[in-house]
Amino acid sequence: MESRARTYPGLLAHLIKLRDHTCRTPFCIVTIRHIDHIRPHATGGETTERDGQGLCARCNYLKEHPDYTVTGDAGETTTSTGSLVATSHPPSPPGLPPPTRHTPNAPSSTSSGSRTSTEKPAELRAQ
Ligand SMILES: [Zn+2]
Repeated sequence: MESRARTYPGLLAHLIKLRDHTCRTPFCIVTIRHIDHIRPHATGGETTERDGQGLCARCNYLKEHPDYTVTGDAGETTTSTGSLVATSHPPSPPGLPPPTRHTPNAPSSTSSGSRTSTEKPAELRAQ
């Protein structure tokens, strides 16, 4: 999901809020107030779900400090400030594995993440 707009429009912003639950900065669990680019729009960041993150207002303003960097994508973001480096991941959706970092040119999925057999899930098996 992507947009040509610089800011995150309604449904895309809502999707990111649902995905992230709370501010994506490591050790911050404040309510999301801003949806912003992980890679800044001014340096080519795209308005997509993969490049968006939910942040509290404080963390969104703090990441503009020259000593503060954020890299990665929706699956894993790394925040660096001085000698402190920490990563964060969005919480796992109920019953599903956590999102993983997107690596271009990598195989799209493995059989462990998708159901390829005809076996029914446990909850649908006859008892
Ligand atoms: Zn925060």
